[in-house]
Amino acid sequence: MVDLHVHSTHSDGTLTPTQLVEEAMSAGLHALALTDHDTVSGNDEFLSAGRACGLCVIAGVEISAQFTPPEGDGVRDDEMHILGYFPQWSPSTAGHLAPLADIRAARNERNPKIVARLQALGCDVQYEEVIAHAGNEVVGRPHIAAVLVEKGYAKDSQEAFSRFLAKDAPAYVPKAILPQREAVELIARAGGIPVLAHPKLLGISNPRELERVLVELIEVGLRGIEAYYSTHQPADVECYLRLAERYGLLVTGGSDYHGGNKPRIQLGRGFGTLQVPDRCAQMLAELVT
Ligand code: AMP
Ligand code: FE
Ligand code: FE
Ligand code: ZN
Repeated sequence: MVDLHVHSTHSDGTLTPTQLVEEAMSAGLHALALTDHDTVSGNDEFLSAGRACGLCVIAGVEISAQFTPPEGDGVRDDEMHILGYFPQWSPSTAGHLAPLADIRAARNERNPKIVARLQALGCDVQYEEVIAHAGNEVVGRPHIAAVLVEKGYAKDSQEAFSRFLAKDAPAYVPKAILPQREAVELIARAGGIPVLAHPKLLGISNPRELERVLVELIEVGLRGIEAYYSTHQPADVECYLRLAERYGLLVTGGSDYHGGNKPRIQLGRGFGTLQVPDRCAQMLAELVT
């Protein structure tokens, strides 16, 4: 088994890249890819740690993009996440991904607005506390959730989201991000493999509609689909595998492990039943871009 979707302390995970490699070794995984939100700053440490202990490691990223469904489906103010994998990682790859700094800047504009809303709702939470809690360059809602839990405004992160931070909750503020096509293009231009992350979270119930989204993204360079994912049911996986076959897409999969920030998700195993086949990592690792 392998895990091609994990977060470190460089975004909203709680383990360092080195600790993730150690955890993967003790879980008996055969390959691991690091996919932090909107940053690639953990990849160098991740690759050295993996190579030092003989684990197959793949550098990556997960870009937050603005999801606009194909014409005729109305406007949905939603996010789409695009994974990027870089089997041939080099320092110049990071250079090509410099535009990610704009997405991080958009986060930095948004986070104080969320905190201001929380204060208006009567929560004694300061932006400085959130920054201190995150302790790195990418600050996200899970860090705000952790501070809310610490201060007793929610019993756990899930409740912090449902009461305050989720899309339909009172402290939610959208973030200005890249249109979906540009996220795919950015990864492709940097020599990476763009993959649609957790398609189920797009909330598209009609497979035809998802197909139209895929076709639009394939036109600009999409190469794969994350068929295996912690919350995908067997019927979902089957649907995504069929679409992958129809469009010649690579199949990937991962848990979306965040360490203590999502304590119910285990590395490699998701909620307990996830199994991402080794060949998903082999196909990626052997790709020459
Ligand atoms: P951000 O990137 O700041 O918008 O935060 C996104 C992070 O929050 C991702 O890791 C999500 O998995 C997590 N997240 C989003 N919605 C929820 C939710 N309803 N419950 C728990 N975590 C969530
Ligand atoms: Fe996250
Ligand atoms: Fe995601
Ligand atoms: Zn993720």
